[in-house]
Amino acid sequence: MKNKGIVYLVGAGPGDAGLITVKGLNYLKQADVILYDNLSNTFLLSECKADCKKIFVGKKAGLHHVKQDKTIELLIKFAKQGNKIVRLKGGDPLIFGRGSEEAIALKKARIDYEIIPGVTAASGASAYSGIPLTHRNLVTQCVFVTAHEQSDKDSPQVDWKILGKMKNTTLVIYMGVSQIKYVAEKLIKAGMLIDTPAAVIENGTLNSQRTFVTTIKELPKTVESNKVKAPAIFIIGPAVNYNKQLNWFEKKPLNGKRIVCTRAEDQSQSLFNLLNEKGAVVVPFSTIRTEQSNPNLKINSLILKNKFDWLVFSSENGVHYFFELMKRERLDSRFLYGIKIAAIGSGTGTKLKEYGIVPDFIPKEFTSESLVNELSKKDNLKGKRILRIKGNFMNDPLTEGLTNCGATVTTYEVYKIFPAKPDKQTITELISKKIDAVLFTSMSTVKNFYEILGNKKSKEILNNTLALTIGPVTAGELERRGIEKVHISEDHTIDGIVEELMRIFINGNKS
Ligand code: SAH
Repeated sequence: MKNKGIVYLVGAGPGDAGLITVKGLNYLKQADVILYDNLSNTFLLSECKADCKKIFVGKKAGLHHVKQDKTIELLIKFAKQGNKIVRLKGGDPLIFGRGSEEAIALKKARIDYEIIPGVTAASGASAYSGIPLTHRNLVTQCVFVTAHEQSDKDSPQVDWKILGKMKNTTLVIYMGVSQIKYVAEKLIKAGMLIDTPAAVIENGTLNSQRTFVTTIKELPKTVESNKVKAPAIFIIGPAVNYNKQLNWFEKKPLNGKRIVCTRAEDQSQSLFNLLNEKGAVVVPFSTIRTEQSNPNLKINSLILKNKFDWLVFSSENGVHYFFELMKRERLDSRFLYGIKIAAIGSGTGTKLKEYGIVPDFIPKEFTSESLVNELSKKDNLKGKRILRIKGNFMNDPLTEGLTNCGATVTTYEVYKIFPAKPDKQTITELISKKIDAVLFTSMSTVKNFYEILGNKKSKEILNNTLALTIGPVTAGELERRGIEKVHISEDHTIDGIVEELMRIFINGNKS
């Protein structure tokens, strides 16, 4: 029997991807088709199945929305084909989200549906700006209102006269950026005291969130002078004053800092997560991508023939692609029994642990030199057989160093690094806004950054922002290219680089 289609109307939350419900995320992961509109955060889309069809039905800059009728038509069409569909909507589907209209249409068409609530912008902005929507003895009611209907209705249904008179109330205004002057005037005219506390929160719950606190009288000026743009929400009433005490989110150490990450995106998750937690606005700008090389290398016979004493990895990629080759031969970590394993870098060590391997040796300093020095102290390498797994780089100080210690080193390249080709939009997005730091985690990220942006532009960007590298070798590559001030992370790890960023920004000594 054909599967019966179903539509899940899922609230994505206002921005921070972590605010989707567990239930919503589960449906997202199972979906065959996703219809989404202008979400503040498109990260959630990467959570769905590889073959999931993702359809944008929102408003493209300067263009019109895909008409609501068309969206409903698509939902019905895909459901009738037996698909699981997620209709992903910003915030909560039933708060200024037209979710109910879609549900009614689905019911009419006899399509099964479920509605999964989301954190609405009011709750998100309230929590992340430290403005409670209610507060005992101060605010006993809260009203959510749209300011948008003014532009398209002859006889408005919102009664600002009543709203302006309400006491002990928090008033939350959605869709108000272009209307705020009109709204503030109406509220004051209705009797709202001119010094009533008022806040506007732009990009609520995202690391780019900005909160401005003022009074209802000054609110339009504040919006204008700070160039507040949608999405933004207004919170008006006495509880706004709690922002001073409870504004935890914008106090994060890297709050609002735009940090460009040049590492391959598929290896950057831990970096992104760390930066995100510390409040940074992560700007992914992958300069490299990687691919398996030597796909026909037979690990089985290589290892059985050579009886290696040590297996040496120096990157997460090396580990990943080596185990990919093993997988092809249906081998797992048990096959490596008896061979000692060395890794440079805690990331490489962590990657090995994913395959159930605890490295026998990680040097204190994460450089080839220290691996050679420290390992040769731990084990007499003379006559030892070492398998060195690497990428397609020409010079390999590690192979050289180990050979100099008297070891017989067999070197295998398991992956290749290619320059990535970011599209025009990614490049424009990168260079059109201020950049607080650019992070480089390997020489190839530097080389390809230059390749993508050209010598002049790269230099211009890097001489005017913080260029931070994971280690001295990567820094050398930048210095050779004329970058005057390059910062080197004290600890040559991903965690280290984030720590370094915080040190620099907290001390306020960027230059
Ligand atoms: N269904 C959504 C609201 C959609 S209407 C919800 O429940 O949140 C769009 C309006 O929501 C925007 O004009 C803005 O006022 C508000 N909004 C959405 N995301 C926001 C965000 N991240 N920060 C501030 N306001 C936001």
